[in-house]
Parts: sequence; structure tokens; C-alpha cells
Amino acid sequence: MIQWITVLGATGSIGKSTLDVIARHPERYGVFALTAHTQVQALLTLCLTHQPKYAVMADAASAEQLAQALTAHKSNCQVLSGERALSEVCEAPEVDQVMAAIVGAAGLMPTLSAAKAGKRILLANKEALVMSGQLFMETVKQSGSTLMPIDSEHNAIFQSLPSNRVVDSSVEKILLTASGGPFRGYSRDQLANITPAQAVKHPNWSMGQKISVDSASLMNKGLELIEACWLFNVLPEQIDVVIHPESIIHSMVRYNDGSVIAQMGNPDMRTPIAYGLAWPERIDSGVEPLDFFKLAQLNFQAPDYEVFPALSLSSKAFKQGGTTPAVLNAANEIAVASFLQEQISFLRISELVDDALQHHQHQQADSIESVLHADMWARHFVQERIKQ
Ligand code: NAD
Ligand code: MG
Repeated sequence: MIQWITVLGATGSIGKSTLDVIARHPERYGVFALTAHTQVQALLTLCLTHQPKYAVMADAASAEQLAQALTAHKSNCQVLSGERALSEVCEAPEVDQVMAAIVGAAGLMPTLSAAKAGKRILLANKEALVMSGQLFMETVKQSGSTLMPIDSEHNAIFQSLPSNRVVDSSVEKILLTASGGPFRGYSRDQLANITPAQAVKHPNWSMGQKISVDSASLMNKGLELIEACWLFNVLPEQIDVVIHPESIIHSMVRYNDGSVIAQMGNPDMRTPIAYGLAWPERIDSGVEPLDFFKLAQLNFQAPDYEVFPALSLSSKAFKQGGTTPAVLNAANEIAVASFLQEQISFLRISELVDDALQHHQHQQADSIESVLHADMWARHFVQERIKQ
């Protein structure tokens, strides 16, 4: 039977890779809905190729433009707009799987709706889990939803864990790999005059702008540390970050008998996406096979916690718990957007995140309102700091 998929953030890097994998398996998967922020032309092209039943744009004006263009192409796709519509195309009874690939906090509410509705969730949007880890995991448990990690590292850990996917006493460490980004080996001085164009130029992966900047500051690894703690029910102490510049090993699990299980492959997100879609089966993803003779070597280093404070800030935020990780995430989102608009320097990003964490009044994150309130507070705090 065909499984129906909703792709949130279809026009993004993950969204497009997801559609590439889906299109290789028309006998298995059909597209129920595609969503985008305001990229009308890009979503139009995807709708004409993949023929979803629904398309969702963020605002009514973009939706109207898309609807007119689809009508001109004699398409039956129905166009909706707004936040509520994003949730509706996740909750619909026909939907089997939801790819959560909106970037940032904007992805939280629809992803949570998919969890409430008991859907299988392919989680790329790590920010949603960082913000609301406890609530999110409780919701998944209550509804019986299946949560598949798509972030390459978490997908690798999932593949390397014991067969029941639970971290038991045989697991000694999770080894979370990081490429180190474009500024691996730099000093603080060398980071002072980094431009957005330099920061988004990742050596191994082609990704959206926000996650590319996060990879350069190692905030991406910090967010992933928190993501791993929630997904696998572990503490930051059980995770070691290992810098591995080639991005061939996507993460590892070390066991008490000395075994280390690693998942490897070319750095192409279609591998974890195909795994998430088909698990427990495996399907063709279109990814080139790994050529060890061309690779010749794999390298490893310890991270530099002084030059890249994002790692320690994230670990501290997770340990403090409650609304603190939501503040970390929101402060980072605003700081990264300001850096991309050349309003602040690269080093200022982690300083602003630290500043927000120090001024935040920590609260329980036991309701979505408290999470969203902390998120709003942090955005406002960082915006005011930047204005000063
Ligand atoms: P991207 O910037 O390429 O795409 C983001 C998508 O979200 C676009 O479709 C955009 O239209 C949509 N979007 C943005 N803001 C929105 C809003 N306010 N409302 C509704 N839709 C909105 O990002 P990406 O690189 O594909 O990353 C998506 C998510 O996946 C991020 O959370 C990222 O951390 C995670 N992720 C990405 C990669 C990767 O290789 N790109 C790897 C691991 C995890
Ligand atoms: Mg990752």
C-alpha cells in the first residue's frame, strides 16, 4: 500500500532531498502535502513534479499567487496558508509520515501536531526538539508516534545502537562526530572578521544558510548534543564530541566490550532520509557508494572548547533544563539572522547566546506556552542587545 507523506519545508535542502528519494519509489510513497515559507515559484515547480493533494504557504498573498499559477497549469492541488494549515496537513488521517524540515522554531507547532496525531515523524528540525524536549518526547510516547532521527549523526547513532534502539548498560559512550566546519583549527583572532559568505561555505555538506552558520560556530553540534540527550535518553556526560573533518563516519556507539559501531557513508542526506522513510527496511537512496581507496584516510581530533563556546553553552543549557534550551535556541536564531544581515560579527553570536542564558529566569518547560514565552523573551532580549 502507498504511504502518504507530508513534507514540511519542501523547498529547503532537506525537503528537496526527501522528494528526490520519494520519487525513486512511486510504488511505496505518495506526496500528500508540500509546504514552504514564501518561495512561490520553487513550490510551484515541486507541486507540478510531485503532485501533492495540498500545498501550504506561510501567508495568504503567497498562497493566492501559487493557487493562480497551479490553476493555469490545470493542477488539482489545493492551496492553504498559515500556521494552522501547516498542522492540518500533518494531522490529516490519510497521512502516514511527516518530514519535519522547516528550519528553526517555526517548525515546532506542526511537528508537535504530527506527534499528537501519532504519525511517523522524520525529524530533521532539531530546533523543535531542543526547544521542547520534554513535552515533545512525552507527546510521542503518549500518542505512540514513531520518531525517526534524520540528522545524520542521530540517524547514525540509531543505526549503531543495540537492536531495540535503547541505550542500555552495555553502551559506554555515544561518539557524536562533527566536521569542525569551515573554521576548524582557527584561533579567536582569526574568527574576528569572518563574513557570512565564508561562514556558509561548508567543506562537506550542502545545507540551508542557518544550519551552515551553526556548523561554523559549532552551535549545530551543541544543538545536536541536546537533541541526542532527548532522543536517546542520555546525559551530556555520556556523549563525546569527536571532530572528524571528512564527514564519512556519521557517529558511533562505544560498547563495554571494547567494540565501537560506526555508521559510514558519503555526506549526502538522502541516506538518513531513505533510512527514516523505509525503516526497518532499506531502500535505494541514489547516494554514490563509498570508495575507501579514493578516501585513503579518516582523521580525528578533539574539539576546541575555548574557540567554540557553543558546545559548553549547550551542555550547560541542557543541564539547567526547563525553558533554558528554548532560550539558547531562540537567542541563536536571532543572532545568526543578524550575522547573516551583517549587523553583528561572527564572534558576537555566541556572546549574545551566553548573555541571554545569563539573564534568563529559568522556568519549568511543562507547557507549550512556557516554551513559547521563553522563546519570545530571548528573541526580544537579543534584538534589544543588538540595537544597543
Ligand atoms: P533550508 O533553509 O534549506 O530550508 C528551510 C525550509 O523551511 C524551506 O522550505 C522554507 O521555506 C521553510 N521555512 C523557513 N521558515 C519558515 C517559516 N517561518 N514558516 C514555514 N516554513 C518556513 O533549511 P535546511 O538546511 O533544509 O534545514 C531544515 C532543517 O533540517 C533545519 O532544522 C536543520 O537544522 C535540519 N537539518 C538540515 C540538514 C541539511 O543537510 N540541510 C542536516 C541535518 C538537519
Ligand atoms: Mg547533523
